Amino acid sequence: MRSTIRDNIRRFGIENWGADYFAVNTRGEVVVRNGDDSIALVDVLREAEAQGLSAPMIMRFPFLVREQIEKFHNAFRNAKREFNYKGKHQALFPIKVNQNRHFIERLLHYGQEFSYGLEAGTKAELFAVLVSDVPETALITCNGFKDREFLDLAVLGKQMGKDICVIIEGIEELTGLIEIYRRAEIIPSIGFRIKLSTRGSGKWEASSGDNAKFGLTSTEILIALDILREHNLMDTLNLLHFHIGSQITNVRTMKRAIKEAGIIFAEVVKLGVNIEYLNIGGGIGVDYSGSRSTNMASAEYSVAEFANDVVFTISDVCEKFKLKQPGIVTESGRVIAAYHSVVVTDLVEIMGAEFDLSHYRETETMVKPVAELTYTLNHMNERNYVEYYHDAIELKEELKTMFTMGFCSLVDKSNGEILFQEIVEKTIEIAFSVGENFERDPFMRKYLAEKYLLNFSVFNSVPDSWAVGQLFPIMPLKHLERPCDNLGVVTDITCDSDGTIFRYQSEHGESEYLPLHDEMDDYPIGIFLTGAYQEVLANKHNLLGQMSEISVDINSDGKLSVVSTAHGDSIKDVLNSMYYDDAFIHSQAKKCFKKVDNPKLHRRFMSYLNSYTYMKREHKREE
Ligand SMILES: *Cc1c(COP(=O)(O)O)cnc(C)c1O
Repeated sequence: MRSTIRDNIRRFGIENWGADYFAVNTRGEVVVRNGDDSIALVDVLREAEAQGLSAPMIMRFPFLVREQIEKFHNAFRNAKREFNYKGKHQALFPIKVNQNRHFIERLLHYGQEFSYGLEAGTKAELFAVLVSDVPETALITCNGFKDREFLDLAVLGKQMGKDICVIIEGIEELTGLIEIYRRAEIIPSIGFRIKLSTRGSGKWEASSGDNAKFGLTSTEILIALDILREHNLMDTLNLLHFHIGSQITNVRTMKRAIKEAGIIFAEVVKLGVNIEYLNIGGGIGVDYSGSRSTNMASAEYSVAEFANDVVFTISDVCEKFKLKQPGIVTESGRVIAAYHSVVVTDLVEIMGAEFDLSHYRETETMVKPVAELTYTLNHMNERNYVEYYHDAIELKEELKTMFTMGFCSLVDKSNGEILFQEIVEKTIEIAFSVGENFERDPFMRKYLAEKYLLNFSVFNSVPDSWAVGQLFPIMPLKHLERPCDNLGVVTDITCDSDGTIFRYQSEHGESEYLPLHDEMDDYPIGIFLTGAYQEVLANKHNLLGQMSEISVDINSDGKLSVVSTAHGDSIKDVLNSMYYDDAFIHSQAKKCFKKVDNPKLHRRFMSYLNSYTYMKREHKREE
């Protein structure tokens, strides 16, 4: 049994992507860890159910935000020490990654001792930032395109006494800010976002480079400096910023960007400006696949390596151009937030799995493909299984053609499909027993994988999986003491063929299928590292609304325990959001039931307004 657990740990790669936060206990359950303490996710799920919640739900572990903040802070502190770097490090969290107030409150709480600040990219985000408890010693930056209202909010922030920096994306913004300044007689500090020709690496590399939509060109930098000089505001410029895109897969691109920015930095200093900060943006990658590679779903480097490379390269540039070492501002979001939440869903059914031999119906005569499928099933062995499996695919097609032409009955077709399913299962069984991992045979893979229908929506739980093919590690939360004999493909309950997940972590990096157990009644599955971007990008496809939530944090005894729960959207909630307001629903329902004249039916109908939008599963729970 122990060796099966070890085997599953290896196959699901949890030690590669789990960052030591997630592990498997001796009972074969996935746990989340805080030092020596740990809690099984199935125990959290049981507690959620006791409180009336059901899957799918978001399990939140805010203490992992603290862990990531500390890891990040220590990486820069150590790097500064190693290279004797004099400038300070100021970390900001870009709130577009997760604006949830509860999340931001925990982040600011844990980040307080490091003067953790926030970055805003829109008016609404800035408003949220300004009403949050950002420490006075922390920096707030405003990125993105800004209208007068956005600029005015930033000025108001300054008037509230916050250390706020408006990062200029275009000349218009600068002249707009100066106009407000002339009225308000106060101005926030100013940063320039500079356009680099260095491109990021990975999926989001188009955020940078000569054609990027953000940043000032060299001509614009000179014009902006003229404007500042003209208004005697050169002193307010104290930061240069670039952001080369999210999920940087290769740290070399970051070094190249710093070197390029260093040249601009030196030129601006030469023109008489005292630049206090170099803001290198975000972009630290999360190793979702656990492969430590330059794949889009991975990152080749650790946070510590990233910090070392950044600090070393900046100090190198400073030495070369004889510059005072600036403070380093970072805006990493993904790596801070990703680990802290897991989407927990459960199995509805394995599609097609009900086709077992017990449903086979004897017939007087067997049509030829059925007879041959029977022979194939009975004579498969380790030597011939690949060939026999390919034969079976042809026989299944043959049977289908016969049926459409009217040459066999529905019973014949059903029998053939049942036999084919048995052959598939036997093929997998033999393949595993001889150590075949299917990596070499995409044709087999395609037919062998079974569809696991899970109670969730790809569009709402992991929208990046659908939008940009992002990989998220997925694995069962229990039963890991038993071998996983099936090859699965995860699909959701939306009426959309895009609602399927096509990429999975594996011991070899990435795979098109996931090892999973055979049919189980109680089979909770976790989709991990969903804390960055997913909740905000989530949409209402099929009116499957916001999921329920349960948070586990460190209690006053220093132990992990459930600290809060929240119900997800009801049918009423999602309908309201689409303008089916209560008055409309009630009057329409009244109209319909007037003809029926049965108050009991009417009441039963209306009671569904309070139901959770996702599937309600009736489990035969094993004790
Ligand atoms: C999105 C964004 C970030 C955050 O990037 P991550 O990859 O999440 O670290 C930082 N800065 C700016 C300007 C951004 O637009």
